[in-house]
Amino acid sequence: MSNDRGRLIVISGPTASGKTTLWRRLVTYPTVDFSVSATTRSPRKNEVDGKDYHFLSQDAFDALVAKAAFLEYATVHGRSYGTLRSDVHKSIEAGQDILLEIDVQGQKQLKESGIPMLSLFVMPPSLDVLRDRLRRRGTESEEEMNGRLAIVEEEMKWAQEYDHVVVNDDLEEMIQGVIALLGLEVKA
Ligand code: 5GP
Repeated sequence: MSNDRGRLIVISGPTASGKTTLWRRLVTYPTVDFSVSATTRSPRKNEVDGKDYHFLSQDAFDALVAKAAFLEYATVHGRSYGTLRSDVHKSIEAGQDILLEIDVQGQKQLKESGIPMLSLFVMPPSLDVLRDRLRRRGTESEEEMNGRLAIVEEEMKWAQEYDHVVVNDDLEEMIQGVIALLGLEVKA
């Protein structure tokens, strides 16, 4: 990248919208870092502490809040999640883009703070498609799944607050569209 400073790139979208597949692909570009959030939820199977999230106790999380260590933080599905300020600044100063996969509350906080950012909202083609994807993923209990679906419609109302809305009709097409939008350079 020719930029001196990296960009803060925010990706949000309903659960199972394809945003995880998207960010995993974007961070394969050497100019893009991933912001590892802190959370108080338990790790899922295959999740690695320090790589997917920093898994913290509520006390440890609250201590970071008290120290103003978070650029933004929110309660999502009853658990705390936050973006570490220091990680974001480190990447941006080093000229690296930094990708935040955060919820709509987090995007709102960042937007209100006036920090320069580029925000993308990944939209599933429909709620039915989303429900299907979630069932197939099978990582949540039925109760958790219903809870998540209940807030999807709420989240979707926020889409217009983002710089770009990308519809995930076709996953690969959507990913290629975002790569072009961000002007990411072909890997060596
Ligand atoms: P999950 O528990 O499924 O990994 O994530 C649940 C939700 O929390 C997702 O909508 C995700 O975008 C959001 N999330 C993850 N990390 C952060 C964060 O640091 N800040 C905020 N505001 N939301 C986050």
